[in-house]
Amino acid sequence: MIIVIANWKSNGSLPAIGEWCGEMVDKFPQIHIDKPGCQVCVCPPHIFISEFADKLGSLVQQPASGFALGSQDLSPYAMGAYTGEVNAQMLKEFFGSYAILGHSERRTLFGENSTALSQKVKQSFASDITPIFCVGETAGEREKISDVLDEQLEPLLQELKHRPDAKAIVAYEPVWAIGTGQAATPKVANEAHLLIKDKLAKIELTNSIKVVYGGSVTADNAKDFTGMPDIDGLLVGGASLKADSLLQIVQNVQNMQNMQNLV
Ligand code: PEP
Repeated sequence: MIIVIANWKSNGSLPAIGEWCGEMVDKFPQIHIDKPGCQVCVCPPHIFISEFADKLGSLVQQPASGFALGSQDLSPYAMGAYTGEVNAQMLKEFFGSYAILGHSERRTLFGENSTALSQKVKQSFASDITPIFCVGETAGEREKISDVLDEQLEPLLQELKHRPDAKAIVAYEPVWAIGTGQAATPKVANEAHLLIKDKLAKIELTNSIKVVYGGSVTADNAKDFTGMPDIDGLLVGGASLKADSLLQIVQNVQNMQNMQNLV
């Protein structure tokens, strides 16, 4: 099952959310029934999570709908005196089941480090929230991509060693491809995914971990990525803000899957 994750970043307004959710509620269930090969997860800014939960209703309350809600970050702590933080238990109250962790914007602009990320992964596992753990090299780091991925994956791998059955997603997002319109080629992305999968295979896991690609994904290039053998889904920023563009990505991915199933 392919997963398409929508990262709204720090975007959105109540009217825009109303329109987006209205279109999803109208169209996604039928699309999912016709061709059930693709799940969707939307990750809005924290302050809008309750609005999404309310407007999407049964879509996010019933796992069988193929639609889920997540956050773009998570507190490294549980409930308590941590001013400004939104924790995993709170996310669960609004049917949140995924959390993007370690996005490159958080690493570079907000100083997110491995210590904090280990704690965040721990909190997400403790509340049965699937971390969408982001990794990816800058343009200047292309030559040493394997070392960069080793270092970035470390907090996730350490936690997975204690929780070999926990669910997790790794998002490979080369920093040079995020928001630039310069997506990686499917071949380059697939090579990085293979590298990540090799690293994951070194620790013994009972659950398979999806590895998804992010960086300038559009309705035009989406199926080229998910058509590759080691790309299990997509993390989509800009092209997820309009419901019709996200739905087009989903449909293009599903069509490609159907074609592959026929061969
Ligand atoms: C992202 O930041 O997660 C992302 C993939 O952004 P975009 O699709 O806009 O490149």
